[in-house]
Amino acid sequence: MSNEPSVTLDHHEMHLYLNTGLVVKQELADNDNIKGVGLFRTEIPFMQSDHFPPEQAQYELYRSILEANPDKDITMRTLDIGGDKPLSYLPIVEDNPFLGWRGIRVTLDQPEIFLVQARAMIRASEDYTNLQIMLPMITTIAEVKEAKRLLKQAYYEVKEELKDPLSTMMMPKLGIMLEVPAVVYQLSQFAQHVDFFSVGSNDLTQYLLAVDRNNPRVSSLYNSFHPSVLAVLQEIATQANKLEKPITVCGGLAGDPAGAVLLMAMGYQ
Ligand code: PEP
Ligand code: MG
Repeated sequence: MSNEPSVTLDHHEMHLYLNTGLVVKQELADNDNIKGVGLFRTEIPFMQSDHFPPEQAQYELYRSILEANPDKDITMRTLDIGGDKPLSYLPIVEDNPFLGWRGIRVTLDQPEIFLVQARAMIRASEDYTNLQIMLPMITTIAEVKEAKRLLKQAYYEVKEELKDPLSTMMMPKLGIMLEVPAVVYQLSQFAQHVDFFSVGSNDLTQYLLAVDRNNPRVSSLYNSFHPSVLAVLQEIATQANKLEKPITVCGGLAGDPAGAVLLMAMGYQ
């Protein structure tokens, strides 16, 4: 399917982006029908390791992806661990992991993890303009402000170290994932702080329906086509388009043929 242009019979182009967590192969660079990476799950290499990958190892991985695809947007999500994504070297024991220490909550509480990753991403983006950074599990404006403060710190540190007066290194575009239902009711405020939104339909469905996405006992209740989920998705598209903020979907619904058609009808691009 990825070898076909993503254009409807009435010539509407729907942009196709990949989700990945490992090295993006040459096929991405060679395939003009794929616009870029909509979600690079940076936690996957962390999960495959038995220790925190050092900055240099992270830098080399991120650099290889940005370098191979200079004309495609590559959206890297900051570490999204906790919930269903454990790290053997950072055990988290909680009664309610999906309502607990997950995603941005972990990395803002342990800013050294966030800063090392931010530095690796920003260093990797030198000479390129295709990096976008995305924050997972955002619930409050304060989290976005704090993450931005750390990103700026990383940016100025890296810029200072480069000592290259000709360096045109830019601050990457910043986006947040819309996966905690609360953010839907504050989109206009979030829009003042970020460049783009991306819907995490997997978690948004889980949190709207109060259904653990990995629990087989309730799997029949887990349904991204539930009328309430569709209503929220429509609300997000309408608001984001009104706010003129780019909006994508990085959850599994966008990869479902019926889901993709519905999302297009709602105004997602
Ligand atoms: C999502 O929640 O829809 C998403 C893309 O993130 P993940 O599945 O990695 O939690
Ligand atoms: Mg998610």
